[in-house]
Amino acid sequence: MSEDVQIPYDFIHITPPMKAPDEIGNSKLGSGRGWVPVKKETLQHVKYKNVFALGDIAAIPMGKTGGSVRKQYKIVVNNLISVMETGKIPKSNKEYAGYTVCPLITNIGTVMLAEFNWTNKPVPMVPLDPTQERYIWWLLKVYLLKPMTIYGMLSGKA
Ligand SMILES: Cc1cc2nc3c(=O)[nH]c(=O)nc-3n(C[C@H](O)[C@H](O)[C@H](O)COP(=O)(O)OP(=O)(O)OC[C@H]3O[C@@H](n4cnc5c(N)ncnc54)[C@H](O)[C@@H]3O)c2cc1C
Repeated sequence: MSEDVQIPYDFIHITPPMKAPDEIGNSKLGSGRGWVPVKKETLQHVKYKNVFALGDIAAIPMGKTGGSVRKQYKIVVNNLISVMETGKIPKSNKEYAGYTVCPLITNIGTVMLAEFNWTNKPVPMVPLDPTQERYIWWLLKVYLLKPMTIYGMLSGKA
């Protein structure tokens, strides 16, 4: 049973739904629960072997960030080529390990960069304590992420 309650607040953070559009989520490709069911290590559809999904649309744990997509697209490209050339994914193909990253803005000029994977252990890209707020992660968030996405990821270089 649920009831409506009113709670005072001075700051609210609302998370938008992270799921496939209904056209996909409710189609035969979708799980009926809003995502596309894929094997989480290969990102290959559980039923249709010539279909792959990545990003917010994919029914995998965590991984709903652009940082996850940055790791996932290389897995998908590799597996897609394997399926097109041989009809299957060899065990030697690299698997997605659940990497995700959250830049947590703690103040103007400071960010904590939480990088982790399905083990929930920190997997920092540089050996710096991820529990510390840092100016360099602020610079990354404010100035580098957008060009990295546009010029790096979209051209397959980042
Ligand atoms: C406020 C906010 C802040 C975030 N900050 C970060 C961050 O700092 N770092 C980070 O890594 N991630 C961040 N994320 C998460 C990140 O933006 C998403 O995980 C990422 O964009 C997912 O990429 P995607 O390609 O799967 O989906 P999307 O980027 O949502 O792309 C899906 C595209 O499909 C289009 N589309 C939808 N329906 C249809 C249709 N029927 N026909 C055709 N096109 C359609 C949409 O218009 C959209 O362009 C943030 C998200 C939000 C909302």
